[in-house]
Amino acid sequence: MKRLEKLYEGKAKALYSTEDPDLLIQYFKDEATAFDGMKKGIIKDKGILNNKISSRIFRMLEAKGVKTHFVDMPSDREMLVKRLRILPIEVVVRNIAAGSLAKRMGIDEGIPLKETIIELYYKSDPLHDPMINEYHIKAFGLAEAGQLRQMETASLKVNRILSEFFNERGIILVDFKLEFGVHKDEVLLGDEITPDGCRLWDKVTSEKLDKDRFRRDLGKVEEAYQEVLRKVLE
Ligand code: UDP
Repeated sequence: MKRLEKLYEGKAKALYSTEDPDLLIQYFKDEATAFDGMKKGIIKDKGILNNKISSRIFRMLEAKGVKTHFVDMPSDREMLVKRLRILPIEVVVRNIAAGSLAKRMGIDEGIPLKETIIELYYKSDPLHDPMINEYHIKAFGLAEAGQLRQMETASLKVNRILSEFFNERGIILVDFKLEFGVHKDEVLLGDEITPDGCRLWDKVTSEKLDKDRFRRDLGKVEEAYQEVLRKVLE
């Protein structure tokens, strides 16, 4: 399946049409951004590493009954996916306090949460993805009540599966962001699951193996992504 017209270009990926109107190609780039695009950089081969990591994870989730947009990985930087109408909501799932939650609550990073937290954000770059709740989603018609329920149920299921998957590989799944979309009346998990949108900490050393290495200038960014790919393929 060849890439035809570029439909959209985001910060880390571009989206192309194919001969099949139901299928698109997600093309993974090496560009990295942080702090609302204020910080920009290149992480060498990130596109290849993220495509491989995400493809492996989507395949595993599909095998465990999670419906995703993943179809195939035709090349190192290309993922063939079902065409989605993306719902403008980012779902963040948290097991351990970090990042914006630690800041907002005035606590140290690394404190385990008594319960998993789901947070919802309105996907809008100009508004800097403001946090919203289910009332905003209903009031502004961002998703139907049933779709939101499916997104939350799927997010918790992904959390259970991924936490175990990473734990078996010596990695703690601290938090992550998911996006969903509608394909033929079905809500499917979309986007990607990679160290760009997850916090992953080494179980033994607590070393960060995710985009915080880029955000916080911790060095060894490529090495961390490579290690995640190595572990994910175990
Ligand atoms: N996240 C993301 N995209 C966003 C915001 C957050 O992928 O636009 C991910 C981030 O990588 C982390 C989780 O969601 O794994 C929670 O992020 P947080 O709210 O702590 O935001 P941060 O301060 O990291 O931007």
